[in-house]
Amino acid sequence: MRELKYPASLWRQTATAAAEPRELAEAVIADVAIIGAGYTGLSAALRAIERGLKPVIVEAGEVGFGASGRNGGVVSTKYRVSLSDMAHTHGIEVARRMSRLGHDATDCVEHYVESLGISAGFAKTGNLRCAHNMLALQRLTDEAETARRLFGDTSLTVLDARQVAAETGSTAFVGGVLNQHAGVIHPLNYARGLAAAVRARGGLIFERSPVTSVTQQSQGVELATNHGTVRAHLLIIATNGYSDLTSATEAVRQTVVPFRSAMIATEPLPGDVFKTLVPHGRSYSETRRMMRWFRRIDDRLLFGGRGAFGKDDSEAAFRALEGAMKGIFPLLEGRAITHRWSGLVAMTLDSLPQVGMLNPRMAFALGYNGTGIAMSSLIGRHVLDLAMGDEPDLSLMRRTKPQNIPFYFLREPTVRVVAGWYQFLDQIGR
Ligand SMILES: Cc1cc2nc3c(=O)[nH]c(=O)nc-3n(C[C@H](O)[C@H](O)[C@H](O)COP(=O)(O)OP(=O)(O)OC[C@H]3O[C@@H](n4cnc5c(N)ncnc54)[C@H](O)[C@@H]3O)c2cc1C
Repeated sequence: MRELKYPASLWRQTATAAAEPRELAEAVIADVAIIGAGYTGLSAALRAIERGLKPVIVEAGEVGFGASGRNGGVVSTKYRVSLSDMAHTHGIEVARRMSRLGHDATDCVEHYVESLGISAGFAKTGNLRCAHNMLALQRLTDEAETARRLFGDTSLTVLDARQVAAETGSTAFVGGVLNQHAGVIHPLNYARGLAAAVRARGGLIFERSPVTSVTQQSQGVELATNHGTVRAHLLIIATNGYSDLTSATEAVRQTVVPFRSAMIATEPLPGDVFKTLVPHGRSYSETRRMMRWFRRIDDRLLFGGRGAFGKDDSEAAFRALEGAMKGIFPLLEGRAITHRWSGLVAMTLDSLPQVGMLNPRMAFALGYNGTGIAMSSLIGRHVLDLAMGDEPDLSLMRRTKPQNIPFYFLREPTVRVVAGWYQFLDQIGR
């Protein structure tokens, strides 16, 4: 297994204290074993407890070690496939259900934060998607119109270039769409808050305990780590972009391509900067294929973007991100960057999450394609229900078996080529 490196993130620096990590060094018996202490695994554990079951989570690093502790904290649901395309290909009812699941996902975060008393700075400030060219604005406008006309969704408002400039403090955009049903959160505090709720309700979380093997038995499954085991009736694999950490999750590894996403944070900025820069404290994302996003956190601006595939952080990717940030916000020229970090998102073949059963005892839920704070919180609940034999309506996300990426062994060069192609399309304005 490769060495686990913890990111030098602003989130780790500003997070509430975590519980003392407990390694798995014994033989534990549970109802449900879960691999991965990100939002998917933590939410599945909470759902298990609600249903009167005893869950045990086994995590290779610490709670939120994966994407859940590193992300941008933009709480919104945006599929990489547009709802209009879903309606066109699968029919209006399917697109309506997918739209509903998106709303439920954001509601799920709000519900957890409120009902569990999680202090993670969640604020429903809205998300503004900023169009980088007229074609992108047209697509955004069509999508907002589809949502309003077909699903009665009135949470989306189209803004012109002047309004977006007033909203962001940048003249780099030609317009945008404001989604009121979205917000911001401190991602690591959210993960730690969910973990505290699991523990307070009797669930067990073992950290720094990579699962090295999964064995199916007549009455369930057995997970092994270097120093302990967990036996359970059911297993949920919630490893997302980190599914290749060990061979224990081999069965789902080829369903996702890990794609590196990077973040930078500025030094503290004088208060008057925020009179023009993102004055409403929303979350903001761009329409480029190699998407970038930004938001305020306290007195800093946070700026993130997709990079290329790579096992480690890339200096060049961080420099490119800083250049992009200063291109959009020239008033940040000369401001220092104090934090840089990255993490892995999980891309799937059809750009949608995958939820299903490997066999009657083992479930999987992964592949959020870079927008998973809200969706993984919701899917964690549904995958537990699925494992229990229910059939929640997950629409296009429900899989009868894992959908593997063809020619997986070519993923590294393929991702580089795709990333380069996307950058080219973004540059020529397509
Ligand atoms: C830089 C970045 C920015 C992002 N920004 C946003 C954003 O602003 N908004 C948004 O909605 N989404 C964002 N995302 C995506 C979002 O963070 C993820 O979709 C979400 O966190 C997925 O949660 P998860 O629980 O499924 O996976 P993860 O949080 O990645 O958790 C998987 C866990 O599985 C563990 N694991 C793997 N293998 C093993 C093993 N063998 N044994 C034990 N444990 C194992 C890993 O250690 C890891 O902790 C971003 C992601 C990144 C990386």
